[in-house]
Amino acid sequence: CGIVGYIGHREAYPIIIKGLERLEYRGYDSAGVALFDGEKISLSKTKGKVSDLKKKTEGAMSIKGNIGIGHTRWATHGVPNDVNSHPHYSNSGELVIIHNGIIENYESIKTELINRGYTFQSDTDTEVLINLIEEVQKKEKVKLGKAVQLALNEVVGAYAIAVFDIKKPDEIVVAKLGSPLAIGMGDNEFFIASDASPFIEFTNNAIYLEDEEMAIIRLGKEIKLRKIKNDAVA
Ligand code: GLU
Repeated sequence: CGIVGYIGHREAYPIIIKGLERLEYRGYDSAGVALFDGEKISLSKTKGKVSDLKKKTEGAMSIKGNIGIGHTRWATHGVPNDVNSHPHYSNSGELVIIHNGIIENYESIKTELINRGYTFQSDTDTEVLINLIEEVQKKEKVKLGKAVQLALNEVVGAYAIAVFDIKKPDEIVVAKLGSPLAIGMGDNEFFIASDASPFIEFTNNAIYLEDEEMAIIRLGKEIKLRKIKNDAVA
C-alpha cells in the first residue's frame, strides 16, 4: 500500500501514476487518484493494478491539475472493490483523503456521524475519518490543519494520510502514525509519498515525518511541522 501526492506548478497526474508504480512493491489490491485543476475535482479509482487505473482514467476524465493525491490500497475494512478504493470524499464533496493504515475505533465514530446525518458510500474506516474531519471543521469553525489535528486526537489506530480541501487548493495536510510518510521539497512545489522513490528525480531535499507528527504544506510557505497530540495548530 502506498500514497503519493503533489502540489506545485507541474501536472500532478504523471508524477502520481509513476510514483504509485514505484510503490507497487509494497503490495496492494486497488488504486486511485484525485486531481483538482482550480475549477473541478476529478477522481478515478479501481480494484486492480496501477495499469488498470491508467486505462480507466485516461480519456475518461480530465487528468489536469496541479494538486493531486494517489493511493494504492491494501484493504483492511471493506472488500477490495472500486467504491472502497481511495481517495474518499467527505459528504460535502470538498475534502478528499488518502489513507494507509487502520482506524480501529471507526465504528463508534461512524455511528455518531450517522446520527448527525452523515451518509457513507464505502465500508472503509477511511471514509469515516474524512467525515470526522469535516464535522470537526464545521463544528469548531477551524482551518483544515486544526480540524485534522482535532480529529486525529479522537482516533485510535495507525495512519499515513494526505488531505486537501478544494476550497483551499494551495494546501495539503499530512499526518503519520505507524505508516511511513516522506515529504519532498522543491522550488515552491511539494511531493508526498510513502518513501522517497516517487520524487527522487525532482528533489533530494526530503523530510520523513515522525510518528504522531503532522505537516501543513502550503505553496509559498515553509512547511509547518506539528505534534498531533499537543502542539498548537493555528
Ligand atoms: N484501512 C483502509 C482501507 O481499508 C486503508 C488500507 C490501506 O492501508 O491501504 O481502506
